[in-house]
Amino acid sequence: MSSLKELPQERLASMDETGKRVFLHPADVKGRFKRLRIQVHAVLLVLFLVLPWIQIGGHQAVLLDIAHRRFTLFGLAFWAHDAPMLIFVFGSVFIGISLITAVWGRLWCGWGCPETVFTESVYRAVERLIEGNAVQRQRLDKSPWNFHKIRLRATKWLAFLVITLIITHSFMAYFVGVEALADMMRRPPSENPYTFGVMAFITAILLFSFGWFREQFCIIVCPYGRFQAVLMDDNSMTVLYDAKRGEPRRGVAKAEEPQGDCINCYRCVQVCPTGIDIRRGVQLECVACTACIDVCDEVMLSIHKEPNLIGYNTLVQQEGKKVQHFRPRVVILSLALLGVLSGLVFVLTMRAPVKATIFNAKTVAYQILTPNAADPQITNPFMLTSANYTFGSAQVQLVVSEADRGKLEIIAPQVGVPLPGGQEIKSPFFLKFPKSLLKDGKYVTHLEILTRATDGSWQRSARQEVHLVGPY
Ligand code: SF4
Ligand code: SF4
Repeated sequence: MSSLKELPQERLASMDETGKRVFLHPADVKGRFKRLRIQVHAVLLVLFLVLPWIQIGGHQAVLLDIAHRRFTLFGLAFWAHDAPMLIFVFGSVFIGISLITAVWGRLWCGWGCPETVFTESVYRAVERLIEGNAVQRQRLDKSPWNFHKIRLRATKWLAFLVITLIITHSFMAYFVGVEALADMMRRPPSENPYTFGVMAFITAILLFSFGWFREQFCIIVCPYGRFQAVLMDDNSMTVLYDAKRGEPRRGVAKAEEPQGDCINCYRCVQVCPTGIDIRRGVQLECVACTACIDVCDEVMLSIHKEPNLIGYNTLVQQEGKKVQHFRPRVVILSLALLGVLSGLVFVLTMRAPVKATIFNAKTVAYQILTPNAADPQITNPFMLTSANYTFGSAQVQLVVSEADRGKLEIIAPQVGVPLPGGQEIKSPFFLKFPKSLLKDGKYVTHLEILTRATDGSWQRSARQEVHLVGPY
């Protein structure tokens, strides 16, 4: 027996038979997962809004200053020359999310994705406050445009706009810095047209996505939803309906057979933000928001049955088998994650405040300064490349090794190369030496590279082998 509430098999619930968008108004839910989700979302929202205002060591805790190619993360400065490190960062994020999906399904979608956090815990909450519960909102959708509807819709979109502007400004603070942002806000947009344009664009996108597009983003746009089918298997934890226990549901069970626990109330469908019926099995549209778990638990308790007819489970457990924790995809992803995280830790720990390297200049190999002298003086050209990874200024100085002092001379425009924070500088210099130092036209020496902070907070020294050449 089919019900009027039965969803169409051939199309999305958020689409009518003509292909037009059906705006979903999921019913409100109460329950343990809802409470937990509100708490998690609240923590994430507070973090997002507060993080740009936190200062560590006089610098914004998180600043992704793309314009000046400088990233600040919790007191550490990263510059353009740190870009290779991003391979490890992005690699960790990508493999980490893949591993979480393989083990816990779409945990990210329901609990951490900005689309879900903002839509469910901010925009829909405001919508409910202004337009009422799901039934009232559906009625308002269908009602003709009159003063009441225009007033409610105008109030809602004005509230959405204000909220979106707060989100966009907080978002921009991560890229331009709170102080620069405050300064820009005091000036007319014409003084910062580029930033203003980016801000207006992001505001429009977020307003559209969180205010109207909503579950369509998860279903149509987000690539992660598509990936989940590849990453998950029967051992992955996900939101599942226990068909063995629930079926045959009320209205479907024949008179002579015992009825399952599902009373076919469709409450799990009514609360679903993507409009699906979880009783049809694992679906691409399910964002694992747990709303159907909470509402079905409520139904089960009201009819004195055990909760968890819908719950977090794995397909193998539902078949009465044991979950395989160490399956190939989990082991491979865990090892890969361990590898990239170790690489990241290694690169971070090996990262000196200043990196200075001597290269042979790509000009002439040597020059004879005094060809007629008994022991002619020769010069070799070199290039010193120094990069300062700190916020403060530093200095790099080259010193001839003790064994060759008096024989070798460094000829450079200045003794110590000043290196401002975050800069990479190339400074040419020459090494001058007598021909008698060479054996078969060659000589190997060492130069000391002394690096120190201008404020005296640190200093380091390193040695680098340098090859001198000249005539035989
Ligand atoms: S909420 Fe539970 S009882 Fe009601 S239709 Fe869904 S699965 Fe069946
Ligand atoms: S099926 Fe359940 S968990 Fe999945 S999106 Fe719908 S309500 Fe959320």
